[in-house]
Amino acid sequence: MTGKIIAIIGGGPAGSATALSLLQSGGHDVRLFNARQRSKIKIGESIPPAATPVLERLGVSHLLSEKAHLACSGSVSIWGDNNPGYNDFWLNPVGKGFHLDRNQFDLQLYKQAQSHGAQCFDGWRLHSVTQQTSGFKLLFKLENGEEKSVSADFVVDASGQGACFARRLGVARNVLDEVICLSAIFSVPKDLEVSNRTFAEATENGWWYAARLPGDKIIVSLTSDATIIKEQALASPEKWNQQLHRTQGLKKWLPSLLLQQLPDLQVKSAPSAILSCVVGTRWLAVGDAASSYDPLTSAGITKALMHGEQAGAAIARFWREKDNQAINDYQDMVFDQFSQYASLRNQLYMSETRYRRQPFWRRRQLLSG
Ligand SMILES: Cc1cc2nc3c(=O)[nH]c(=O)nc-3n(C[C@H](O)[C@H](O)[C@H](O)COP(=O)(O)OP(=O)(O)OC[C@H]3O[C@@H](n4cnc5c(N)ncnc54)[C@H](O)[C@@H]3O)c2cc1C
Repeated sequence: MTGKIIAIIGGGPAGSATALSLLQSGGHDVRLFNARQRSKIKIGESIPPAATPVLERLGVSHLLSEKAHLACSGSVSIWGDNNPGYNDFWLNPVGKGFHLDRNQFDLQLYKQAQSHGAQCFDGWRLHSVTQQTSGFKLLFKLENGEEKSVSADFVVDASGQGACFARRLGVARNVLDEVICLSAIFSVPKDLEVSNRTFAEATENGWWYAARLPGDKIIVSLTSDATIIKEQALASPEKWNQQLHRTQGLKKWLPSLLLQQLPDLQVKSAPSAILSCVVGTRWLAVGDAASSYDPLTSAGITKALMHGEQAGAAIARFWREKDNQAINDYQDMVFDQFSQYASLRNQLYMSETRYRRQPFWRRRQLLSG
């Protein structure tokens, strides 16, 4: 391979989609560097029907038909009033959504990028960055403590919320809001009937989310504010469980045996944030590294795939036409979509008025301006 070296930092959905898109244009030496995740089970698993067309365009939609993932027929929510509201995906022309085995999905995409021609460097964590006259020198730390350096003509930051490359260049991150998710994954008996819909419910301290997962599991998550979690000790399994018992619909939707179990909680921050610039000279950021959304929208993975596709096309055009227009257009698209996301998020939070005097909801109203 004699083409330009494109180094992609991060092998999540955004990094793999960027690699697949670049490989479709051909002629580049695509290298994918991925530090291994520390948590065992990756949280973030619902994708809407809109994810399917982009996976088709990337040539990997067959991944969804594998047994690893569960089809999801829509969602039910108790939000804004006490009656459940239904959103059925079968009304959508594209069809179903999915509850993914997230670790498996990310690995499948990564392997697809590899089999389409990307060179993959697993367990390589970006450590430092030096700008050169034409591109960058990247220093990685391997899991065995070794250090390796690589020169790249172009760098893609697909490292998730941490934006490890852009941060090292000193790019600022603008945070609009930040919620904290306290999530537990429970095992359920094989033959237990569980709805394939996603469930959401607003409560005074935030909102709950639950979904059936592949492998006879259910995820149950409470999203709130760091201050409320601290004041009310909601990250303690007992307090979290007490709050679950106070839900109106979720406690009935869940198999009753789960209500008796104390959770093993994973705590994750979910900021609504965007870099002050998502492109620069010979680099761009994609996925959560560029902009991250509140999980309420269940849009992070689909956005990572779509932006990855567009980022790959923009880089290919940059080298073909030798000008920055494509890269600048990509940045405009990321900013425009973040504005659209921010108004959708505001609408969703403002539409819950029953708890408007409670701190969690008051804060969201203030942030919505
Ligand atoms: C609690 C929670 C629930 C969510 N639920 C949903 C949901 O239901 N549906 C949905 O669509 N989205 C959801 N999201 C959002 C979704 O998970 C993200 O938007 C998505 O993972 C973004 O993909 P990405 O590839 O940009 O980043 P990531 O998936 O974070 O991947 C980044 C990759 O970069 C690697 N990396 C990090 N640092 C380095 C480094 N220094 N060197 C090399 N590699 C590095 C990491 O190991 C990782 O593999 C949720 C998020 C949270 C926090």
